Amino acid sequence: MSNAPILLTPGPLTTSARTRQAMLVDWGSWDQNFNQLTASLCQQLLTIVNGHTHHHCVPLQGSGTFAVEAAIGTLVPRDGKVLVLINGAYGQRLAKICKVLGRAYGTFETAEDEPTTAADVGRLLRADPSFSHVALIHCETSTGILNPLAEIAQVVAGHGKRLIIDAMSSFGALPIDAEKVPFDALIAASGKCLEGVPGMGFVFANKASLAAAEGNSHSLAMDLHDQFSYMLKTGQWRFTPPTHVVAALHEALRQYSEEGGLAARHRRYADNCQALLEGMAELGLRSFLPASIQAPIIVTFHAPRDSRYQFKDFYERVKAKGFILYPGKLTQVETFRVGCIGCVGPDGMRAAVNAVAEVLREMEVLDI
Ligand SMILES: *Cc1c(COP(=O)(O)O)cnc(C)c1O
Repeated sequence: MSNAPILLTPGPLTTSARTRQAMLVDWGSWDQNFNQLTASLCQQLLTIVNGHTHHHCVPLQGSGTFAVEAAIGTLVPRDGKVLVLINGAYGQRLAKICKVLGRAYGTFETAEDEPTTAADVGRLLRADPSFSHVALIHCETSTGILNPLAEIAQVVAGHGKRLIIDAMSSFGALPIDAEKVPFDALIAASGKCLEGVPGMGFVFANKASLAAAEGNSHSLAMDLHDQFSYMLKTGQWRFTPPTHVVAALHEALRQYSEEGGLAARHRRYADNCQALLEGMAELGLRSFLPASIQAPIIVTFHAPRDSRYQFKDFYERVKAKGFILYPGKLTQVETFRVGCIGCVGPDGMRAAVNAVAEVLREMEVLDI
């Protein structure tokens, strides 16, 4: 495995050998030991978000978007109305989910380098009291911008509205305390900052809201009320569980805790981000976001202006040196992205910068 490339992407990302090894066992979904694994996983996840008092952890098969769609479909009543806050592609996806599910919604969009503010949200909720819910992306992975979650959550709660947070790319690395940040649902997944493998999401759902959500869902498989009730009764997942993914995440959480939990994970990613930003700046590559709103999760860089630069060629050459980068997701400016998350440290990031430097020299890209 030593010559497998390092994934500097927003997920799937590089996992440890221990985490991959945990998938070498086949578990039966009825087996008591597997049910204990699931229960232990949910308890540990609740501890990370400090959610034991007011929230349940409901796991769901599938990629992260499945869990986001399930949360909206389950927790927003059919006559609810969602204010969707957008500054990138994942915010757009929230709006699309509301549209497909037939939930009424309104959008508020800021530029991709402009966080939504609590003042904006207060103004919008005053202007239209018919909103029942607000949906927000914590770290908008399409650029790496961080939205001010704690402030927005206070304003939403102050208006008596309910908050749905897509914290997919921040959970486990950036602090979120359910006792201080009121929310109805916070959604994350196995294959991001917890460094598990992809294949399941999980929703921290407010206990009272989940209890009141029976019959809201448009879908059988995506109904979190049903998923949770069944799990509570039987200890089992409702339908075939992603057993290997659960086992890998359980092992990844053991390492998370050994590393020093959230504070240590946050520090390592922040160190990765800094090593990356410093190294790329030395090459003359500029980051798209100012440091003040940059989350230490993924960084967007302006592509070189040189006509000899083509992303595909650049990508293939950097890959040949052992690193997988990610294309940009902006419509107006040409960019590429480099993730800071996964089983990698600052030395790995510096090696990636060296690979980028060598590749740009090989491509004779001069105009950066
Ligand atoms: C990764 C991610 C998702 C989920 O994407 P999937 O491709 O469905 O796993 C959702 N929201 C954000 C902010 C993400 O970073």
